Amino acid sequence: MTLGIDDLPVRDELRGQSPYGAPQLDVPVRLNTNENPYPLPEVLVERITERVRAAARDLNRYPDRDAVELRTKLAEYLTDTAGHRVGLENVWAANGSNEVIQQLLQTFGGPGRTAIGFEPSYSMHALIARGTGTGWISGPRGADFTIDLAAAERAIAENRPDVVFITTPNNPTGNAVPPETVLALYEAAQAAKPSVVVVDEAYVEFSHGASLLPLLEGRPHLVVSRTMSKAFGAAGLRLGYLAAHPAVVDAVQLVRLPYHLSAVTQATALAALEHTGTLLKYVERLKEERDRLVRELRAIGYEVTESDANFVQFGRFEDAHAVWRKILEHGVLVRDNGVPGWLRVTAGTPQENDAFLDAVREVQCLVG
Ligand code: PMP
Repeated sequence: MTLGIDDLPVRDELRGQSPYGAPQLDVPVRLNTNENPYPLPEVLVERITERVRAAARDLNRYPDRDAVELRTKLAEYLTDTAGHRVGLENVWAANGSNEVIQQLLQTFGGPGRTAIGFEPSYSMHALIARGTGTGWISGPRGADFTIDLAAAERAIAENRPDVVFITTPNNPTGNAVPPETVLALYEAAQAAKPSVVVVDEAYVEFSHGASLLPLLEGRPHLVVSRTMSKAFGAAGLRLGYLAAHPAVVDAVQLVRLPYHLSAVTQATALAALEHTGTLLKYVERLKEERDRLVRELRAIGYEVTESDANFVQFGRFEDAHAVWRKILEHGVLVRDNGVPGWLRVTAGTPQENDAFLDAVREVQCLVG
């Protein structure tokens, strides 16, 4: 007899659950996980090699536990791009923003506590909540995928969550949350209970609008989380970070594993931050391609949600999963996030996007 997960003495809340599972299929055009399609430029690959070679000489030692040089450079990047001064003391980094979120939930959530997100949104918020023993509350979104402020305020007042997630631009829908809404939700959260509000800005570099970092001023319970996986084109690096009041940075030290960020990771991220200007040029290209996808999908006759991210949500389909499969038959992998009637496509290179648009034109004929 084969032994399954549920035959093991796993925690009750893990029984019958499945792990995060965006398919990693070997197809010609992969537009399903919001990666940046452009490989790192050769000069940066060289610089990474140099920095990693230097780090390799010291691998007998543990890395800088506080990642001081890296956090200083991340703070400089934020200060330069968001028009709000952020220092080393405001920044914390971890292995992807997923780990940042996990550390935040370990610190401010946990057994007997709850977190809320406004769904559909980034599914890992709920999964990480479960993994940290935090109760999950699925807050509402309007039919147009915007956050209905009155309904969201009500959900916060009724549930009094310990952690509030606001993803802007939102994944998988693509739309940004207006700053006034974030401010109102912060106020509602503080009135209900002194809770922590996490603004997940994984895609903010692709936005038409500005970062919400300036809102940190005078709001010690606000946290902005960021990643190098999207705009920096470094999903394989696994580097996420947050900006917040220094007390929040001190608090997450209570749960972080010692030496969680390897010397190789720190060296690689520092090399990438030396080339911010070059990397952000790709962002401009991707924004243009994202806008082209929106235009062309609408011209074909699809409904498209406004996008401030590097991906586009399109529909509507009676059976989105059947359409997902048909697009895959054309060698193009998009994402079925389980939002009924909708699929999501990541902006790729112009050639990849052409292949996708050709596929959806044909598929549209097939479904009629
Ligand atoms: N937040 C959002 C909204 C995301 O879409 C993602 C990645 N898909 C992440 C966080 C996690 O990114 P990473 O762990 O690669 O930094």
